[in-house]
Amino acid sequence: MTDYPTLHLLIDGEQLSTDGRVTEEVTNPATGEVLGTLPHASAADLDHALEAAQRGFHEWRKTGADQRASILTKAAGLLRERASDIGTAITKEQGKPLAEGRGEVMYSANLLEFYAQECKRIYGRTLVRPEGTRAEVQYHPVGPVAGFAAWNFPAINVMRKIGGALAAGCSTIVKPSEETPYGGLALVQALLDAGVPGGAVQCVFGVPSDVSEHLLASPVIRKVTFTGSTAVGKHLAKLAANDLKITTMELGGHAPVMIFDDCDMDKALDVMAPGAFRNAGQVCVSPTRFLIEESVFERFRDGFVERASALKVGNGLENGTQMGPMANARGLDNVQRLIGQAKDAGGKLLAGGERIGNQGLFHQPTVLSEVPTSADIMNDEPFGPVAVLNPMAGEEAMIAEANRLPYGLAAYAWTNDNARRHRLAADVETGMLAINSAAVSTVDAPFGGVKWSGYGSEDGPEGVKACMVIKTIHEG
Ligand code: NAD
Repeated sequence: MTDYPTLHLLIDGEQLSTDGRVTEEVTNPATGEVLGTLPHASAADLDHALEAAQRGFHEWRKTGADQRASILTKAAGLLRERASDIGTAITKEQGKPLAEGRGEVMYSANLLEFYAQECKRIYGRTLVRPEGTRAEVQYHPVGPVAGFAAWNFPAINVMRKIGGALAAGCSTIVKPSEETPYGGLALVQALLDAGVPGGAVQCVFGVPSDVSEHLLASPVIRKVTFTGSTAVGKHLAKLAANDLKITTMELGGHAPVMIFDDCDMDKALDVMAPGAFRNAGQVCVSPTRFLIEESVFERFRDGFVERASALKVGNGLENGTQMGPMANARGLDNVQRLIGQAKDAGGKLLAGGERIGNQGLFHQPTVLSEVPTSADIMNDEPFGPVAVLNPMAGEEAMIAEANRLPYGLAAYAWTNDNARRHRLAADVETGMLAINSAAVSTVDAPFGGVKWSGYGSEDGPEGVKACMVIKTIHEG
């Protein structure tokens, strides 16, 4: 038995149960145990949510910025109070270590608080002309927003969908992943408890493609925001285009990590080796393609393998666990396929490579080296606990390899050469570049990609602006 919370839909401020609804089971990837039963929203439920979102939008957009800020700040406080309970449920449904589950809730609270402050700073501008005419540029909330979030960060992904929208004055309907429903549901509940109107923040579940088709077909929804794979992102962008809805797409990546011979090697290893296996590599900004200057390749390789092999893999609820299971069986199968294919293509397996046991979805932290760019793993996002280390001839070749793929979400570089930092900032095709750091996500800076990694920003002032439209008032 488990003390995972009871699941429901949150529509128009009401908790709607499994009674009379299609349901699905939520399981713990560390044990295979069934955690709970999740109701699917019927077509009538989704219509109800759309009608409430329209009503909720008119109510919320007329709530002053001070009041909105105060409600969102209160919700952030509730999340902090509940972080331990919500974080434990996230570990059960997603697998990550407890500190990371709780940390996700704290980050979500910090992001919401940032947005709460930011909504007081939605300024327009006035153009005063000598001949007496004026123009006023105003920012208005775009309207009801539909958000679809992935399972790898059950809380943060959902907060990124709804926090900026609520700050802007939009109403929101969010669909967290059915595989990890509680993290998002708990955020929405905290917002309702803090005083956001029931029509302004709602949470639904169902068959993902059915829910998105239903919501995106409605003229009520004016913006669509999605976190997940590039394939699904392209599909949703096409659906949104039918009605010219605004979109934000936070899609996959395959981040290059450029290790130069002038860097602080021990620091680079201490930061990037655990970083590659955080959340079992199921992170859109996961460092995956290590491009290492030939002169330091062996030193970096040996230090990396030593650190990867020492990581403690286990149930995220257990003390000392550094890496939990993978979140779902299709991810595990995909990683196994990529590793096998990389070896067939001539890559060397330096650590790991195998599933651990047959109960729970555990996989060894895996290191491959000298993998040809023709191998699938050099082209497809692994989204699992596997890193590839390849020796490179120098800066020019490293930048060319970094830019070779259609992805451009995050990139990392370790160097103490200032001129090189500027060249990398100019030439690497990426939404975010971390230099001598693994941190690419902070509440006050925009988070988002280029090319097939998507477009539009979340976090930072840009996350609020992304949910607004511009209106210009001309006065004669
Ligand atoms: P996916 O794109 O199929 O699913 C991601 C999320 O989108 C899930 O929560 C799913 O319920 C939802 N979804 C799927 N189809 C949808 C639809 N038609 N309408 C609305 N929502 C929909 O990806 P996956 O199979 O879970 O993972 C495979 C790949 O996706 C990974 O290898 C990785 O490349 C990518 N991914 C990226 C992120 C990210 O943070 N950008 C997160 C998860 C997965």
